[in-house]
Amino acid sequence: MPKNVHSHDETWLPHKHVNLLGKELHIYREVSSTNSIAKQMAKSGAREGTIVISGTQSAGRGRMQRKWFCPPGKGLLLSMLLRPKISVQFIPQLTLLTAVVVAETIKKVTGCTAGIKWPNDIYINNKKVCGILAETSFSRTNVEHVIIGLGLNVNLNTDQLPPDCKDTGTSLSIELGQRVSRISLLKQFITSWDEHLQSFMKEGHPYLRSKWLENNVTIGKKVSINKRDGSLDGLAVDVSEKGGLIVRLSDGSLQEFLAEDVSLRNN
Ligand code: ATP
Repeated sequence: MPKNVHSHDETWLPHKHVNLLGKELHIYREVSSTNSIAKQMAKSGAREGTIVISGTQSAGRGRMQRKWFCPPGKGLLLSMLLRPKISVQFIPQLTLLTAVVVAETIKKVTGCTAGIKWPNDIYINNKKVCGILAETSFSRTNVEHVIIGLGLNVNLNTDQLPPDCKDTGTSLSIELGQRVSRISLLKQFITSWDEHLQSFMKEGHPYLRSKWLENNVTIGKKVSINKRDGSLDGLAVDVSEKGGLIVRLSDGSLQEFLAEDVSLRNN
């Protein structure tokens, strides 16, 4: 393990089991972005576990100011509000956990095998079917809340994918050749989240790591890491407790990369 990868430390575990089942669910026809609405609700005191869903978004977003597009009623656009008592550096683990939950949800509802591309995308047959975006608010020293949003392409046909994503994106219905129930996906997502979070709380990073490794398409692949000041090539070898990707570079050294600093291309 490289030096900056932390060993197991009890203090970073979420303080209690945040069940989604039985919490408030807010359903909209159209919003700017479900993450933005969930954030407003968080600021006005909404309970942990609150979920926001919308049929479409006028300003859906991904990482690094990128846009997420979904035609009305064709996707599962969902954000959940969490208030975890964990230190900031471990927040990315919640993104990894969400990715595990989405991959399992897709598998259970459709039978399709979905793979996680580090850190926050879900792929089927080498094409992106879902993006995940976690946004954190801080008070001076503490994490105030975390909003985790996902945009899952459910019943889009190829023509409904964004023009620049027709070759790189897919939807569950494209893969399956039939419509998929968004309600079934939502129910499964909630059930799987509650189950995986409970195990994660009991067992910590080793649980998350094993589930993530089981479901990912990045580890063992040659990758290009695009940083602000250039790019590096290497072999993806592991995921760290901070949710970082551990890469063996061409000089044999191991380096950890954090999602907020880099973009990744599987080669
Ligand atoms: P990368 O795929 O390079 O890792 P990212 O993780 O930064 O990108 P996200 O933040 O998950 O990307 O999502 C934003 C990107 O996803 C957009 O730049 C666009 O290329 C692509 N995209 C937007 N809408 C869709 C969609 N409905 N289906 C597939 N891809 C989409």
